[in-house]
This record gives sequence, structure tokens and C-alpha cells, in this order.
Amino acid sequence: MQLNPQLADLPVYQPGRTLEEVAQELGLPLEGLIKLASNENPLGPSPKSIQAIQETASQIHLYPDGNAFFLRNHLAKKLKVGPDNLIFGNGSNEIIEFVAHALLGPESNVVVSQYCFAIYPIVAHLAGAACICVPASKYGHNLTAMLEAITPDTRIVFVANPNNPTGTLASREEVMNLTENLPDHVLLVLDEAYFEFLDSPANMLPFISTKPNLLLMRTFSKIYGLAGLRVGYGIGHQDFIAELEKVRQPFNLNTMAQAAALAALNDDEHLQQTRKTNKTGLKFFESGFGALGVEFVPSHANFILAKVGNGQQMFLDLQNHGIITRPMGGYRLPEWIRISIGTTTQNERCLNALADLR
Ligand code: PMP
Repeated sequence: MQLNPQLADLPVYQPGRTLEEVAQELGLPLEGLIKLASNENPLGPSPKSIQAIQETASQIHLYPDGNAFFLRNHLAKKLKVGPDNLIFGNGSNEIIEFVAHALLGPESNVVVSQYCFAIYPIVAHLAGAACICVPASKYGHNLTAMLEAITPDTRIVFVANPNNPTGTLASREEVMNLTENLPDHVLLVLDEAYFEFLDSPANMLPFISTKPNLLLMRTFSKIYGLAGLRVGYGIGHQDFIAELEKVRQPFNLNTMAQAAALAALNDDEHLQQTRKTNKTGLKFFESGFGALGVEFVPSHANFILAKVGNGQQMFLDLQNHGIITRPMGGYRLPEWIRISIGTTTQNERCLNALADLR
């Protein structure tokens, strides 16, 4: 076979390990394990989503609605944008693929930050595009330097705000400055996967009607607790969204996913409870790390990066205690692990284990 040469040095993305896999490997009971590895919602999905999934089960012999009509219209109303300002993906990961298909090729490049979300460089590389990686500033994005790094061949700037895996947040002023000074030939993908956890986020939605080169990305995987169903979406100018629709497979969003996401939008109580749980958990870890003398990066999301010495070893030791976290060697942060915020009990168990293991 003549494989695409781009595959030769392309790493395979390493997802967080599943509970079942670790339980089997370690011979531990499943109930004794906790997963704080993939920034999921520790409260689970909304009961309304579960009910919606059950109600759609008898309809899965039919293809899904290829245009996600009800979800699209409901979400558009909620966001106060037009239905044609939205595009849905099989997770927001798929939206990253859409923009790569639409914009990248061998002569092009993308601008990312050091410690950026791992999928951006992978997708760029697959498209044959070069990656300009701008050094981070205090583990966060240096948006001024990213703006300066743009070349005539740059097609996309990727900015996750808050960023994964660092949890850092670029200020409203920095984001505005980047958006306003972005050359017309460059798309800014503002990845807002953790947007709903913020107290007073910069609202970039008003820009989409006048800035065809701005795409916001959000997901139902995090605060809405639907990671297993894969629903993400992009919000952008209708002309650009219409182009992206050309690269989307018609049935990329399954029937249950559409129903569950729609139901989740109607459960504000679950969302508020999740925010509260996350806030309490973040505070708990930050003060706990402070007391233990563990360096950490203050986080604006639903996870926290902690400097633990040998990150891979700590990951394995915690795993032996039934706690799955995420080692950060792949991000060139070998001394760090990333811990997703869990329930109070899970957080206490994780911090206690970490204290014992140091
Ligand atoms: N962007 C960021 C910054 C993320 O952290 C994640 C999830 N790890 C995603 C996008 C993708 O999320 P999903 O595909 O589940 O919507």
C-alpha cells in the first residue's frame, strides 16, 4: 500500500484510559475505581438526557436527522444566533477536522501555542500543513506572539480558551486584540470547550456576523456530561458555515446524541450543579496542593495540572490505587499530571493518595 506519507511520523492520540480496561488489568473491582482523566462531568449526564435517549431507542432503525433540525433551532435560539450560524460535529474534534479539510494543504501552516490541545497539530500534520508553535507564557497562550507569528501561508490560528491541558485563560482584552487584528486570510478557531465553567466569559458571539474568519467551537462533552455521545458544534458566519457543511458527512450526529443534547439544554439545574461541584473541587485541589507544597497551574476549567515529580510514575501509582489521571509526557510536561475535577469524595481520595505517594 502507498500510505499517505504524512502518516509516517504521526503519533496516535492517547486518550484517557477507561475504567473497565484498568479494572481488568489491575484485577480491581470496577466500583473501586475512579476516572479523573478526560475532563468529563463527574455528576454524569442530565436525567433529562437519559430519558430522551430512552425515548429515541425505538427509532434507531431510521437514519438520524442529517440537519439536526430541532437541536439546531433550539440551540440557535438559546445563543441568539441564526440556525445557519451553527455546524454540528461528532464531538468538537470533528469540527477541527472540518476546518482542516476546508482550509489546509501542503503549502499552508497553522499557528498554535506550546501546550495546546493535542488534536490541532495532529490534524494539521495529516493535512500536510506545517505547525508554527509559539512559546507559552506562564503555561498560557501568548496571543500577541501568536498574532506576530502569522505568515502569508497561515490558514488557521487555534486558541483554546480556557486551554487544555493547562486550564489557563487568556483575558478578554487579549482575545479581542487577536480577533480585531487578525488578517482576513486567517481563520481564528476559538475553542470554547470549557466556556460554561467560566464566571464571566468574554462573549465573542456578536463578532460572528461581521467576522467570517472567526469560528467558535463548543461541546456537549464537558459541562453537559455527554462525552460518550459525541456532540460538538461550531458557531460562525453563515457563509463560512455553508462552506464547512460541504465537508461534513450527512449523518455525523446520531439520533440519540441529538435528542440527549437537546434535552441537556433544558436542564439548567444540572448545569448549575455541575458548575458548583467543579468550583468546590477546584478550590479543594488548589488549597490541598498549596498545603502539600505541590506546584499547580491555577485553572479556569474542570481539571488541574499538578507538578508531581515523575508524572508517568505518579500516574501509575495512582492507577494502582484505583485512580485514573492523565500523564502529561505527550505534552512535554513529564513532571506533571492532569487531574479532572471529580465529586467531593473522588477529589478527597485522589488528593489523599497523592499526598501518601509523594
Ligand atoms: N477542545 C478541547 C480544548 C478539549 O479539551 C476537547 C476535549 N478533550 C475537545 C476540544 C474535544 O471535545 P469533544 O470532541 O468531546 O467535543
